[in-house]
Formats: sequence, C-alpha cells, structure tokens
Amino acid sequence: MNRQPSVAIIGAGLAGLTCGTAIKGLVERVRIFEKSIFPGGRISRFRAGEFEFNHGAQYFTVNNPLFWNIVSAWQSEGIVRPWDGWIVELHKGQVMNSDMATQRFVGVPRMQKVVENLARHCDLVTSTDVAELERQDEGGWRLFNERGDYLGAFDVVIIATAAHQVSSLCRAIPAISKLAENVDMTVCWSGMLAFERPLNLPYDAAHVLDSPLSWISRYQMVESTNPGDCWVLHASPEWSQQYAASFRGRVMHAMLEAFWTATDLAERKPSSASVHCWKHALPINPIDQDSLFVESEAIGACGDWCTAPRIEGAVLSGFSMADRVMKFINKSMS
Ligand SMILES: Cc1cc2nc3c(=O)[nH]c(=O)nc-3n(C[C@H](O)[C@H](O)[C@H](O)COP(=O)(O)OP(=O)(O)OC[C@H]3O[C@@H](n4cnc5c(N)ncnc54)[C@H](O)[C@@H]3O)c2cc1C
Repeated sequence: MNRQPSVAIIGAGLAGLTCGTAIKGLVERVRIFEKSIFPGGRISRFRAGEFEFNHGAQYFTVNNPLFWNIVSAWQSEGIVRPWDGWIVELHKGQVMNSDMATQRFVGVPRMQKVVENLARHCDLVTSTDVAELERQDEGGWRLFNERGDYLGAFDVVIIATAAHQVSSLCRAIPAISKLAENVDMTVCWSGMLAFERPLNLPYDAAHVLDSPLSWISRYQMVESTNPGDCWVLHASPEWSQQYAASFRGRVMHAMLEAFWTATDLAERKPSSASVHCWKHALPINPIDQDSLFVESEAIGACGDWCTAPRIEGAVLSGFSMADRVMKFINKSMS
C-alpha cells in the first residue's frame, strides 16, 4: 500500500468510537457506521415524552491504569464525575448492606455524553445498518446496507458491535466469527418509571435480592430536566430470559409489582412507565483477547465481548483494536 488507507468501523458504541478517535488523523479516512439514530449503543439514553433515562449502563468502575488516565481526562473535560450515591442491598424492603467502598463514575449530564463527546470529531453516519461485507479482488472491502445499497469501499474494516452481530457480518472469516458466535449474552429488561411526587426512598440505588429485579436506581441527572422522581429498574438475567418474548404491558406490570415488593412502598401510579428489552445485554463468556485482527483479510473486531462486560472493557478493546490497525497499516506501508 503506497497511500494512507481508509478504515470503516461498524458500530458507534464505546469500542467503535474509542478505536475511531484513536486512529483518526493517522489514516486517510475513518468512517463510522451506526444503525441507530444516535451513537452510544448500550450506554445510550432512553426518552419517554418529557423524561430521559440511562436505561443501559448506570455507572462505571475503573481498574486498569490506562483507563484511569482516560477517565481523568474525561473528568477534567467535565464529561464524567464520581458518583457517591448510597447503594444498598434490598431484601423485600429491608436494607441489608451498603456498599460505600467502590469508586463509581457517571456521565454528565448523562452516560451517553461520553460517546457524544467522542463522536463530535468523527465522520459518523447514523441510521445505517451495515448488512453485508464483500471482499474486493484488489484488496479491501465493499459495504452494503440491508437494502443492498452500496455504502463505500474501504481498505480496512473493523466490526465494533455486540458478538452476535460480528458473527453474522463476517461468516467468511472463521478466525473471528467462530470466536464471536460462541459468546453468550444475557437478556435484560429495563423499566423506566417517573412519579409526580418523590418516593422518599432513603437510598439512591439498590442491588435487589430474591426478586425478579436485580437493580433499581434513582435517575438524577445533573442539570436534570426530569420533573418528579425517576427510577430505572433492571430485571435479573434469569427473569429477563424467561420473559424475553413477553408483551411489554405484561413485563411492565410484573416489574412494577416487584418494585413495590422490593421497596416495601404502597403502590402508586407512575406518571410515565416504559420498558425496553436488551436482547444482548452483557457477554457471559468474553473471549479474553482484547481485540481480533486478521491481517491477510484486513478485518478486525472489538467490543466488550472480547474483554470484560463493562464500559472499561469496551474502551480497552477499542484501544487495543486501534493499536493493531495502526501496526498493520505501518507494516503494509513500509
Ligand atoms: C442493561 C445494561 C446495564 C449495564 N450496566 C453497566 C454498568 O453498570 N457498568 C458498566 O461498566 N457497564 C454496564 N453495561 C455494559 C456496557 O454498557 C457495555 O459493556 C458497553 O457499553 C459495550 O460497548 P460496545 O461498544 O462494546 O458495544 P455496544 O454499546 O453494543 O455498541 C455496538 C454498536 O454497534 C451498533 N451496531 C450493531 N450492529 C450494527 C450494524 N450491522 N451496522 C451498524 N451499526 C451496528 C449498535 O447499534 C451499537 O451502537 C450494561 C449494559 C446493559 C445493556
């Protein structure tokens, strides 16, 4: 290759945007395709009328020194802040235990802000579902959407989606698809509730025991425009799996019932109640390889399913992918 190559990234979640941001400026063109109307993936926001919720990831923790540096930079830019909410364990209204030791962070004013910030300087094409990759004889890949429309040709392709989407996009590359298709993902039903008057629960969030719910959290955005008291509920993986094909109304009813039992509050009518099913919420058995890249085909894959089922895992996988792509490009150009 005697010119700067072009790179297509499929998926504008944290992994894809981290990779894209790291390599932009070092290659001729990096275009990121996202099937949704906005970037974020599993840290995107949910809107219900006048209300807004973080319905996926609620907060993140930091272990890796590289991720600490990134989070420090985000903190300086005012994109994230430490979250010192009071988190307890709940058993049918009884507060069992409190976890004050773990340092947690949240996006400001919402989790999605982290990706919005990364996306600001990227060539991002939204509402575009990349459905087919075609290898070109002269090298590189041609991309098509689900209607067969041509989306462009690129020297290198990075798939930064959840594992099941990776395996369907690159069946012709068993070194990637075989690993991706063996990753199992949990299902998670999220419930988003708004109440006109505060519920006056003393804690900010709780891990719920012996319940269809596993997590409840007051949704308090900085500069919040949400009126009233807003709560996000996550059902347990087992319960969510069992109700994966159920009607939304049925799920909402069951999650509300579980919420009143868990909090031991008298039932009241929410002013807004919505549910969302994350069919592929968290990877159960990540492959433990940071990222994957097949040099002979100029194609790679990254995401939390490679590393660890959390925000930190997605960011570190995106960085690892960027590193591999740059090494490959430098090698092919030398
Ligand atoms: C309910 C829930 C709770 C969570 N709680 C936490 C938490 O508290 N703390 C924490 O650290 N992590 C949490 N996580 C995990 C965290 O959100 C993820 O690990 C992380 O966001 C994954 O990022 P990613 O970039 O790997 O994938 P994703 O965010 O899934 O991004 C992939 C992107 O690819 C897009 N895409 C897929 N297919 C195509 C296609 N064919 N063409 C174009 N675009 C495509 C998708 O729309 C998506 O935007 C939670 C996740 C869920 C669902």
